[in-house]
Amino acid sequence: MRPQILFPLFTDIASLKGVGARYEKLIKKLCGDRVVNMLWHLPYNIIDRTYQPQIAFAIDGKIATIRAKVVEHDAPKTKKQPYKVVVEDNSGQMIINFFKVYADSIAKNLPVGEERVISGRVESFNGIKQMTHPDYIVRPEDAEKIIGIEPVYPLTAGLSNKMLNKLIRQALQRVADFPEWQEHNFVKEHHFLPFREALLKAHMPKTLDDISPNSPCRSRLAYDELLANQLTLAIVRQKVKKQSGRILKGDGSLRQKILAALPFTLTEAQQKALNEIYQDMEAPFRMLRLLQGDVGSGKTIVALLSMLNAVECGFQAAIMAPTEILAKQHMETIAPLCSAIGVRAELLTGKVKGKIRQQILEDLAAGKINILIGTHALFVNTVTFKDLAYIVVDEQHRFGVQQRLALTAKGHTPDILVMTATPIPRTLVLTAYGDMEYSKIDKVPEGRKPVDTRVLPLSKLNEMVSALQRKLAEGCRAYWVCPLVEESEKTDLAAAEERYASLQKIFGHKVGLIHGKMKENEKDAVMEKFKQGQISLLVATTVIEVGVNVPEATIMIIEHAERFGLAQLHQLRGRIKRGFQASNCFLMYGYPLSETSRQRLNIMRETEDGFIIAEKDLELRGGGEILGTRQSGFSEFKIADMQLHQNLLLTANKDAKMIMAADPDLKSPRGQALRILLYLFEQDDALKTYLAG
Ligand code: ADP
Ligand code: MG
Repeated sequence: MRPQILFPLFTDIASLKGVGARYEKLIKKLCGDRVVNMLWHLPYNIIDRTYQPQIAFAIDGKIATIRAKVVEHDAPKTKKQPYKVVVEDNSGQMIINFFKVYADSIAKNLPVGEERVISGRVESFNGIKQMTHPDYIVRPEDAEKIIGIEPVYPLTAGLSNKMLNKLIRQALQRVADFPEWQEHNFVKEHHFLPFREALLKAHMPKTLDDISPNSPCRSRLAYDELLANQLTLAIVRQKVKKQSGRILKGDGSLRQKILAALPFTLTEAQQKALNEIYQDMEAPFRMLRLLQGDVGSGKTIVALLSMLNAVECGFQAAIMAPTEILAKQHMETIAPLCSAIGVRAELLTGKVKGKIRQQILEDLAAGKINILIGTHALFVNTVTFKDLAYIVVDEQHRFGVQQRLALTAKGHTPDILVMTATPIPRTLVLTAYGDMEYSKIDKVPEGRKPVDTRVLPLSKLNEMVSALQRKLAEGCRAYWVCPLVEESEKTDLAAAEERYASLQKIFGHKVGLIHGKMKENEKDAVMEKFKQGQISLLVATTVIEVGVNVPEATIMIIEHAERFGLAQLHQLRGRIKRGFQASNCFLMYGYPLSETSRQRLNIMRETEDGFIIAEKDLELRGGGEILGTRQSGFSEFKIADMQLHQNLLLTANKDAKMIMAADPDLKSPRGQALRILLYLFEQDDALKTYLAG
C-alpha cells in the first residue's frame, strides 16, 4: 500500500488550482498525469530578475525589473504598429510595446498615473529605452510575485513558463517532510540536503551551478532515484534467489547427440556461457541469468543445449520469442535437430488454431511435448505444462523490466534464462537487471566475412540504385530500410510507401514492402517471398530489426542512417551478417549532419563489435536512448544521468545490497523510510508482490 504521506502527490494534476481542461492536457503531455510527475520536471536555465536599474541606466539586452509610473497610452493607427505605453522614473522614460493585445487589458494593467513593477528584456531604439511584451506587470505591493531568479523549464506550445512555474510551486507545496531514507553518515559525507530541501532547491535555483546535474541538490535527487531503482532490483533478485529451485543435471545423452550432429563445434565463448548456465541449473536455487550475445553469435544453440539438459532430467522446457516470426524461426532451427534425437518440440503461436492447438495443449499437459516454442503472451495466459522446469526468454530487448519481473513472480519456479541480442554496457546492465548474473558470448564464430560498410550522402541515391540493379541482376537480395521521420509510425510509413513506389518503377514486381502496420500474416507472406527469392528487394521500416533471418540477403541500404540510433543500426546490419558470403551495408545520410551523427556513422564503419558500439553509444548519447526506450521498456531515469552519475549508480548498487543484507523486509525505521522512496519513484508496480505488509 502506498504510504499516506504520499497521497497528495499521487492525485491527478487536475487537482491543482488553475489547471483547466486545456492546461491539464498540456501538462500531462509534458510531465505526466499525476502531481508527482511535475516534481521531476526540472529547470534547465534561470532568468535573473534581480537586476533593478533605473530606466536611464538599464543595460540593453538584459532582463530588468523596473519600478515606474505610467505616463500615457499611445494606441496604434494601423494593425501592424504596436500599442505603446510610456512609463517613467526619476531617471527617464521607457516605451513598452505590445503587439496584437487588447487595448482594454493594457489599460487595465497599466492605468495612467499609477506605479507598476515591470520585468522584461530592455532594448534601446533611437536612443529610447524600450521593453516589448514584459514578462511581468504587477502592482508595487505585489512585487514579490516576480520571482527574483526565475527557473526556466522545458515547455510545450501553449504553456508559458510563468504558468508552469506557478503550478510546479503548488506541486512542491504538497511534498511533506519525509523521514530520511538515506544513511545519515552518507548524507553528511556528500553534503546532501534532506530530500525536500534538495527538491526545493532544484526547482528554485539561485545560480547556474544549482542546475548542473552535479550540484549537491540534483546529485541527491539522482541518488535517490538510483537507489530506488537498485533497491527494487535487489528485492526482486533476493526473493527469486530465496525460492528453491530444482537441481537440473542431465546425463548429457541428448546433448552429446546434438553436438555430434552439428556441422560445427561450439566456440569458446559459447562453451563458457553454457558452463555458467549449467552450473546455475544444477544449483538448488532458482536460476535467473542473462545471456548477452550479439546477433549471429550463436545463442540459439546455447539455448537449445540448456533446454535439453532439462529434458534429460525428464522435465519440460520452453522458449519464448517476442514475435510470431521469431518463434517460427526458432522452430525452424530447433525442430529438425530435436526430431533427429527423439525429442518433441512444438510451436504454439496465435496462429496455431483449432484441433491442432487443442492437441498441443493436451500433449503439453500430459508431458508428451518436451520443448515448447511460443510467444511470450501465449505462454503467460493459456498454457499448462506437466512439469516445466526451464524457460528461455528470447528478449531481443522487447520485454520490459516489468514484464520480466512479473514472469519471475509466477507460481512455478522454473529456472529462467533471459537472452538478449542487444549488447548492453555494464552500467545499463546494472540499471536494467541489477545484479542478475549474466553470461556473455563476446565472440562470433570464426570464418565470418566482415560486412563491408560504407557511409555516403543521399545525393548519391541514383548511383546507389544503379549499383543495386547490377547486384540484383546477379541474384543478390537486399533490404532497403526507410528512415524514421518522427516519433510516429504513420509518417514513417508514408516515407516507406513513397520509396517503395519509386523503386517499383525500376524493379517492378521484384520489390516488396513490409512495415509495422501490417498484419502478422501479411508480414509473414512478404518475408516468405523474400526468403524464397520471389522478391529480391525488401523495402522496410524498422520492423525487420528484430531477428528476421534470411541468409541469402547480403545487402543492406539504410536511408537517413543518421536518424537511427547506433544500437538500431547495429541490429539492422546484423540482418546481413549471417551468410558466409561477402555482404555490404550502405549508410546513406542526409544533411545537416550533426557532429554526433557523423561520429556514430564512423563507428559503424569502423567496428562490428556490438559491445564496443554499445559503449560508444552510451558515450555519445546517454543511457535512455541506447535501447530505444520506446520499444525497450528499459527504465528511463527522470533525474539521474547514466554518464554523469555512474559513480552514484555503483554506490547505490552497493547500498542496495547492504540494505538487503541488514533489513530484507524493510522493517527497520530506515526500511520504512525506504518504502516511501520506492513508492515515490513509482517502483510499486514492479514490487507489487513483494512489498506486502
Ligand atoms: P543469434 O545469437 O543471433 O541467435 P544464431 O544462434 O541464430 O545467432 O546463430 C547464427 C548462425 O551461426 C546460425 O546459422 C548458427 O547455425 C551458426 N553458428 C552457431 N554457433 C556456431 C559455431 N560455433 N560455429 C559456426 N557457426 C555457428
Ligand atoms: Mg537468435
